[in-house]
Amino acid sequence: MEEAKNPTAEEPKRLNFLEEIIEEDLKSGKVKEIKTRFPPEPNGYLHLGHAKSLCINFGLAEKYGGKTNLRYDDTNPTKEDTEYVDAIKEDIRWMGFKWDKECYASDYFDQLYEWAEELIRRGLAYVDDQTQEEISEGRGTVETPGKKSPYRDRSVEENLRIFRDMKAGKYADGEKVLRAKIDMASKNMMMRDPILYRIKHARHHRTGDKWCIYPMYDFTHGQCDSIEHITHSICTLEFDVHRPLYDWFIQTLDIFPSHQYEFARLNLTYTLMSKRKLLELVQKGLVAGWDDPRMPTLCGVRRRGYTPEALKMFCDKIGVSKRDQMMDIQLLEWCVRQDLNARSNRYMVVQHPLKVTLVNWEAGKVEWFDCPLNPADPEGAKRKVPFTGELYIEQEDFMEDAPKKFFRLKPGGEVRLKYTYIIKCEEVVKDADGNVIELKCTYDPSTRPGAGEWRSVKGTIHWVSTEYAGKITIRDYDRLFLKEDMNDIPEDKDYKDYLNPESLTIGSGYAEPALFDDKSGIAVQFERTGYYFKDPDSTDAEVIFNKTAALKDSYRPE
Ligand code: ATP
Ligand code: MG
Repeated sequence: MEEAKNPTAEEPKRLNFLEEIIEEDLKSGKVKEIKTRFPPEPNGYLHLGHAKSLCINFGLAEKYGGKTNLRYDDTNPTKEDTEYVDAIKEDIRWMGFKWDKECYASDYFDQLYEWAEELIRRGLAYVDDQTQEEISEGRGTVETPGKKSPYRDRSVEENLRIFRDMKAGKYADGEKVLRAKIDMASKNMMMRDPILYRIKHARHHRTGDKWCIYPMYDFTHGQCDSIEHITHSICTLEFDVHRPLYDWFIQTLDIFPSHQYEFARLNLTYTLMSKRKLLELVQKGLVAGWDDPRMPTLCGVRRRGYTPEALKMFCDKIGVSKRDQMMDIQLLEWCVRQDLNARSNRYMVVQHPLKVTLVNWEAGKVEWFDCPLNPADPEGAKRKVPFTGELYIEQEDFMEDAPKKFFRLKPGGEVRLKYTYIIKCEEVVKDADGNVIELKCTYDPSTRPGAGEWRSVKGTIHWVSTEYAGKITIRDYDRLFLKEDMNDIPEDKDYKDYLNPESLTIGSGYAEPALFDDKSGIAVQFERTGYYFKDPDSTDAEVIFNKTAALKDSYRPE
C-alpha cells in the first residue's frame, strides 16, 4: 500500500482511466450511451467507501449523458434485509444521485435458472455431490492443477433431473451444488469449475420461499449487468481475478456484452469500512447504532454534520486509481470544513462559562444587534443577538496572570465582545477557594460599531447574554479508532482493541437565542470553535448538537 496521500486542490484535471476508456468507447462507436450500475448487497448500511463507488458510477453517467441503475445484489438470503434496502435508497438520495431503474438480482432468478439449465444441456455444467471441503481441496493450488470431481461426467439427463430436484427442495443445504465445467487446470483458480448454485433453505426478503437454491455472485453479477445492458460495470480491484469468469458467462451464453473495470477501493486512516465489522460494533453496542456519528457510514457522517457536497469534493480530490491507497482522513475533514465555512450559519455559544457583569450598564436594558449569519455575505441574512448587562464569556478567554501576548481579557485589560462593545476588566471576583467566578467590567458606549470612529483592540471574543442564552448539550466526537491503518491488525490483536475510549465526550453550552430558530438544515458554526450539527435526538427540553469538525486545523492538502 502507498503512503497516505493528500492530493492538492490545484492539480490540473486529467481524465482518469475510466473516463479515458469511456471516451474511447463513445468515440469508436462501440458504445452509444453509457450505462453504469451501483450494486450494493443489502446486508448493511452504506459507508464512505460506497460514497466513492457512488460518485464514480453516477458521476460518469452524469458526465457522459448516460444512466445508472441501482441494483441490489441480493443473492444471499440469510444476511439480507429490507431495512438495509430502504436505508441504502435513503443514503443515495441524500448524496443527491438519481438512479434510473431500481433492480434486484432476485428479479432475474428465473432467467438465471434458465441459463443454468442451458449450460447443463450444453454439457457445460454439472451437479457435484462432493462436500464443501472436498470441492475446495479438489480445486488444487495456484502451483498445482485441480482434480476433476468424480461427478463431473454425469449425463445431461442426470444433471437436469438432479438440478430440478435441488430446485424442488429434495435435498438438504450443502448436499449438492451446481458447477460450471470449465478447466480444472486453469491458472486462474476462479475458472476451476466454479460453483453456480448452492442449496439454501432460507426465506428471501423478496422472493420469500419460492427458491431453495440461490445463484453465486459470479453466476449472477455479469448476467444481471448484461440483462440491464450495463456498458461499464465498475467494481473494486479484488474482482479483477473474477473478470475472465465474468466474460466466460457472457460469451458462452452469447448475451449483451457488458464489460467489467476495476478501480482501487477507498481506505481511510483511522477508519474501518467492512460491513461485517461495522455490524459487529452495532450488535455489541460498542456504538449507538449504524448512524452513530463516529461511524464511517453515510448515515453516521450525515448525523455528524458532513454534507454530500463535502463527500463529493473529497471523492473528486482522491480521484480514481488502479492502485490501492490509504487516504488521509484529514483530507475528508478538510473538505467538510471547506464546504461548511462557505455555507454554514454562525452563532455564538459559550461552552465553559465565566460570568461578566457590566457595572455601568443600565439595569434591565437590552440592546439587539443585527449580525450577519455568514460573514462571507455581510449584506446577506441577519440574526438578532441580544446584549445585556450580564454575560457569559469562555473561561479560557480570561487570564489573571496573562503573558504579554495574551490579547483576550485580563485584569485592567480591554477586549471587544464580538459585534458589540469594547469592555474593560475592572475587578476579578473569586470564591472561597480562589477560583475566578465573575468579572466586573465596564463597557465603552462610544465603541458601538457604526457609532462614530472605530477604536480597535487586539482581541475579539464571543459571548452570550445570560438572560437570553439557552442551554444545549454538546456531543464532542473524536476518532473511533486509535490506529492509523486499521487494515493492518497484528495476528494477536483484534480490531476492537483499538477502539478509542475517549471518542465521545458530552458537554454543554449556552447559545444565543437565534441558534434555536436555525432552519438551514446543515451544520452551523459556533464562532471561534467549530462546526456543529443538531442531532435528531433533540427534544424541546434538550437540544443536542454533535461536533462535526473543529474550526481550524494545521492540516493543509499538499
Ligand atoms: P464491504 O467489504 O464493506 O462489506 P462490499 O464490497 O461487500 O463492502 P457491496 O455492498 O457489495 O459492499 O458494495 C457495493 C459497491 O460498492 C461495490 O461495487 C463495491 O465494489 C463498492 N465498494 C465497497 N467498498 C468500497 C470501498 N471501500 N471503496 C470503493 N468502493 C467500494
Ligand atoms: Mg460485497
